[in-house]
Amino acid sequence: MMMVLATQNKGKIREVKEILSEYEIKTPADFDIFDDIEENGTTFEENAYIKAKYIAEKTGKITIADDSGLEVDYLNGEPGIYSARFAGEGATDEDRNKKLLSLLKDVPFEKRSARYVCSIAIVYPNGEHHVFTETCEGYITDERQGDGGFGYDPYFYFEEFKTTLANVPLEQKNKVSHRSKALLKLKEFLNKN
Ligand code: IMP
Repeated sequence: MMMVLATQNKGKIREVKEILSEYEIKTPADFDIFDDIEENGTTFEENAYIKAKYIAEKTGKITIADDSGLEVDYLNGEPGIYSARFAGEGATDEDRNKKLLSLLKDVPFEKRSARYVCSIAIVYPNGEHHVFTETCEGYITDERQGDGGFGYDPYFYFEEFKTTLANVPLEQKNKVSHRSKALLKLKEFLNKN
């Protein structure tokens, strides 16, 4: 079965392809669609649905979309749905991580608890849709560890691994990540339907 993954984020494409390896995953670029979709929802669920619906309507194909982000308890859940836009338009992962660390300056490790959240939406050409959400709990370190993963991973400490999610092979990140757990829920749903 073929599905379109409504994203241009290379990190997400890599992770989704690895987890949904039995499906043929295309991206909007394969359909010459490079639109910037306005994510004007107020939750991860809404934004995932908005992205999947937009591309499903444009391509007429079954489409999935991921909306994800980082919630830091000390920052009352920020950056949350604004994780990608945290340091403004055109900023890099490095800029976002720098901003995060500056907001957590002098905050002790045990107060730096955080979680990744991922909502995966699937939208069928007839409008049927479902959304699956999962989380991954960790802490924000103040020392960069590892070059794998993407985004906030070099600072996202996962207790069981005793290091960050950027410092383990992708295969290992995919055993525990918010995205892989939400995609597994999607897989279970697809297997039953
Ligand atoms: P979205 O494209 O609006 O869903 O933005 C999600 C943002 O959250 C990404 O650009 C990253 O900054 C962050 N993020 C989500 N998932 C991960 C992850 O697995 N590792 C690191 N950062 C992530």
